[in-house]
Amino acid sequence: MTPAHRTDALVDVLVVGAGPAGLALAARLARAGAGRVEVLEREQDAGGMPRHLHHGGFGRPPRPWLRGPEYARRSLRAALAAGAAVRTGVTATGWAGPLSLETTSPAGLERITARAVVLATGARERPRSARLVPGSRPQGVLTTGELFRSVHGYGLPVGRRAVVVGAEPVARHAVATLRRAGTEVVAVVTERPRAAAVPGVPLLTATTVGELRGRGRLTGVAVRHRDGRSGVLACDTVVFTGDWIPDHELARRGGVPLDPGTRGPRVDASFRTPEPGVFAVGNALHGIERAATAAGEGAAAAAPVLEHLAGAPWPRPGPPLEVRSPLLWVTPNRLTGTAGRPLLLRSGEPSSGPVVRVVQDGRLLWRRRVLAPVSPSRSLRLPPGWTARVDPDGGPVVLDIG
Ligand SMILES: Cc1cc2nc3c(=O)[nH]c(=O)nc-3n(C[C@H](O)[C@H](O)[C@H](O)COP(=O)(O)OP(=O)(O)OC[C@H]3O[C@@H](n4cnc5c(N)ncnc54)[C@H](O)[C@@H]3O)c2cc1C
Repeated sequence: MTPAHRTDALVDVLVVGAGPAGLALAARLARAGAGRVEVLEREQDAGGMPRHLHHGGFGRPPRPWLRGPEYARRSLRAALAAGAAVRTGVTATGWAGPLSLETTSPAGLERITARAVVLATGARERPRSARLVPGSRPQGVLTTGELFRSVHGYGLPVGRRAVVVGAEPVARHAVATLRRAGTEVVAVVTERPRAAAVPGVPLLTATTVGELRGRGRLTGVAVRHRDGRSGVLACDTVVFTGDWIPDHELARRGGVPLDPGTRGPRVDASFRTPEPGVFAVGNALHGIERAATAAGEGAAAAAPVLEHLAGAPWPRPGPPLEVRSPLLWVTPNRLTGTAGRPLLLRSGEPSSGPVVRVVQDGRLLWRRRVLAPVSPSRSLRLPPGWTARVDPDGGPVVLDIG
């Protein structure tokens, strides 16, 4: 067998992922004259997840009339108009060197070397197997991403009766998509003790899915309430929602350190990973946030990328940020100088009126009562002012809530 022919290319900035984050960054960089800015997208179309989300509410502030596909087209147009190159159908598969990526596409294999690499790979849903739900593998078991692609991407029929598992905000969109496809939604099931109901659909809280029943096609899901009651919900479709983690595969392959809380690449407040010249932005850092948040991070990363291209030294990592239970994660994960944007903080438990505290080496840096209810499916935004008081040579900066 002859080895596949591989071409080599050189660019100034290589962005992996043409979602809102990657496209916003590429637009800013190209407009600022960063040289050749190339965005790689493994799908056939650029725009990222919003391409499959046909409800309104995109943009900043959220605009009820702005649907995902139109938002995606606008983001792409802005990047192209600024002069960025957006290449679709090209997947970055691995690393050939510290700032060198291997790619594959129908045109063949390529090695692209850049002066800066930005990971904007978004988030993905963990499949059922990862959630350890037993049962055979009947047809009709979907993640939300698969549901949106089937219905909006390919116009495929889904099923007649569906159960939605998980009561994250995305569950509401899953229910709407199922209804649009003509599927009756039998119930929304969540392990949480409390959750917002979707109008017209029974909500089963404190309930777990024990088993998927059926051979060939799904016939039902066995559920068990925390109080011991159990039963089977008859359905031919089950949609697992809300278990999103950063798509960190490429980062991991490149040895880019991951944060144990977010499970995305570890970054400072300027989106710099510990690997010189490698940045990360968007949902790749923290899982699902609003598209405007991801795009805002992309746009904000342009300045530090430009500084790097101009020869600024890669700063030594500052003190790490750590969270205490029930907090799950915070991003950024280290502080190298003062942060210019709000920090995102996620709690694993709902609460009302808790106090967030930030302490370094026993010194209180910030303390504030949160007035809005805290939910595990929504991040808190911490104003960044207190980061100026962090001792760059001090110990970990610890955040807690209570
Ligand atoms: C059900 C649902 C409803 C939502 N509703 C809203 C809403 O109403 N309003 C709102 O503002 N936001 C909404 N969002 C959130 C929004 O879609 C995301 O925050 C946004 O798309 C994140 O942008 P991103 O660029 O970080 O990632 P993505 O949009 O996921 O883009 C990442 C891109 O990287 C590509 N990629 C990954 N790995 C590689 C690789 N190795 N090589 C090449 N390409 C790669 C992927 O194919 C993808 O296109 C919703 C999300 C969901 C799931």
